[in-house]
Amino acid sequence: MSKEIVLRNARLIDGESDQPRERVSIVMKDGRIASVTDGDGPAGAGAQVIDCAGKTVMAGLIDTHVHSTFVDRTDLTLFLAAGVTAARDVGGRLDKVLRLRGQVNSGEVVGPRLYVCGPLLDGEAHSFSPGPMSEMLDNIPRPSAAPAKIAELLDSGVDGIKIYFTMPPDTARAVIRAVDKRVPITGHLGYTTAMQAIEFGIDGLEHIWISPYQDICSLEMRLAPGASMSNRSFWTHTLKGWEEMNLKAPNAQAFFGAMVEKQVKMGTTLDLLWTAYSGLEGALADPDRAYIPPHCLARQAAQNKKVKAGKEWDIHPGYWAPGEGRKALDKQLDAVRMLHEQGGVVVGGTDCGGLNYPPPGFALLREVELLEQAMGSMAALKAVTVGAARAVRKEHELGKVKPGYYADLLVLDKDPSKDVRDLRSLRMVYRGGVAYDPKVLLAARPVRDMEAIPA
Ligand SMILES: [Zn+2]
Repeated sequence: MSKEIVLRNARLIDGESDQPRERVSIVMKDGRIASVTDGDGPAGAGAQVIDCAGKTVMAGLIDTHVHSTFVDRTDLTLFLAAGVTAARDVGGRLDKVLRLRGQVNSGEVVGPRLYVCGPLLDGEAHSFSPGPMSEMLDNIPRPSAAPAKIAELLDSGVDGIKIYFTMPPDTARAVIRAVDKRVPITGHLGYTTAMQAIEFGIDGLEHIWISPYQDICSLEMRLAPGASMSNRSFWTHTLKGWEEMNLKAPNAQAFFGAMVEKQVKMGTTLDLLWTAYSGLEGALADPDRAYIPPHCLARQAAQNKKVKAGKEWDIHPGYWAPGEGRKALDKQLDAVRMLHEQGGVVVGGTDCGGLNYPPPGFALLREVELLEQAMGSMAALKAVTVGAARAVRKEHELGKVKPGYYADLLVLDKDPSKDVRDLRSLRMVYRGGVAYDPKVLLAARPVRDMEAIPA
């Protein structure tokens, strides 16, 4: 039983109202929100009452696309330090992600509340070659193998299913049928198109860059059968395809229409192109670089033996030129805007753990800043709270500040409903009613030598 905490006099972004509410009291008890009242509200005997005058309270952020087992355990605190109180793991070795979920959700390891999908489900072929990341791959080699694999995963207690790049349409259909809506299914698609997956009943798509690419690019820029993400050309080709894309073309509009009609969640991961937007120099000067986990640094150092290491070695995956992709990113922002304006569901995700930079937690702050450009600040905040909660199918207890919901809250010095960069004014974060001071969490990390470039 945790003690009762009352936040008084707060400006509240509750996740439902279009505008913040003023002078609100929020009571947290036993890990949940007990009450939300205008004015002073109740406080039980012995409750800790905190005056939040001038401060803004909102629900903790949710990152819908992380690979948590590829982040050092001690660095899971970075999520909380940035205000990310829940995350969905969309790819990891089954036993590892299940163990980590148990440890984090019980409080044994400090980090965000975790929901897990288990391994990436490919078709017959693996999507990428053996290496440090390949432990998260699994296969369903033919449609008839789908029921057994899905039963195994659901029996183990996964919160969702993720289908991956090389899974062909007939197997994807068999998987979606076998899951039978028991958990949400998302996909990082390639061999199955987004339109096919939507027709089969998929719940979400990952990476606006990749999953709908074949559906919305021009005919000439479609990827040939057998395309591989391990080839550098995949990335440069799809960047070009995005630059040249006509989002008003009938194929693109048909995709948006289907997404809206079926309310399929579009996971964005716009931050994959963050360096394109900030410019390489801007990224190199980014203080968040200090928070890249050692695990990710070591992996990137090994990668740099293949792609020439420069001073940007730690922040750039090496598959496309640093600074490239600005026009593609602008077009992806246009796609997000169109989808949102037509009534689609946009949800923020980052791929952190899978990607070094920006680092855990802080990557989602970058994502929200990009989403704000496409949809405005309030909608961008919803994409990483209420929208993201829908993607993990936990909208009844996550993503809003409402009685019965998890006491996952942020207390901010400024009001991010006008400018989402004010999410960085985080003063205190609560996960399940337990308080964490971001400054204390960050101070506990070892200081990194920013000048060191691996040989
Ligand atoms: Zn990923």
